[in-house]
Amino acid sequence: MREQLIREVEIIPLEVVVRNVAAGSLSQRLGIPEGEVLPRSIIEFYYKKDELDDPMVSEEHITAFGWASPPEIDDIMSLAVRINDFLSGLFLGVGIRLVDFKIELGRLFEGDMMRIVLADEISPDSCRLWDIKTDEKMDKDRFRRDMGGLLEAYREVANRLGIMNENEPVRGKGPVLVSSNDD
Ligand code: UDP
Repeated sequence: MREQLIREVEIIPLEVVVRNVAAGSLSQRLGIPEGEVLPRSIIEFYYKKDELDDPMVSEEHITAFGWASPPEIDDIMSLAVRINDFLSGLFLGVGIRLVDFKIELGRLFEGDMMRIVLADEISPDSCRLWDIKTDEKMDKDRFRRDMGGLLEAYREVANRLGIMNENEPVRGKGPVLVSSNDD
């Protein structure tokens, strides 16, 4: 439960945002009321550059500056759509609407082959998750908008997904040494 298989990828310098419902910067930029269901899912690209506040870019910028090739953009978009379909269903099944999310991707080299893979965490830190019945926010917006109840919301998401026991303490006692070569 505490082990991970890590693969090294060449990270693509893009943040890929998939949106199903208007919120956040989309609502601000285009004046679409938060909560309005979009006519279809929308994929946006942002250039990963903290100093510039991750500006939005188009496929033209991405190909002209060589951040990704046209076939790679196709792969990125179809992966983003598949991830959106999978996650939307997963969250819907536990009464949560997936409003939007951000992912990053990387190039995984295997011998002569290269494929683009998801290279990011998916958590309420990078998704907007609203309760399907009440529209209550269950994500980082609670922190950004100073609403409180962040830990409770994150626990509720984990509980509903069945990945955390309801009675489990939020913070454990820290790592425990289970074997040592010294003795
Ligand atoms: N997001 C993120 N990291 C970023 C920017 C955005 O994880 O650096 C996520 C954010 O949590 C939301 C989605 O991407 O789920 C869309 O964010 P938006 O463009 O609306 O920006 P915001 O207004 O949240 O800054």
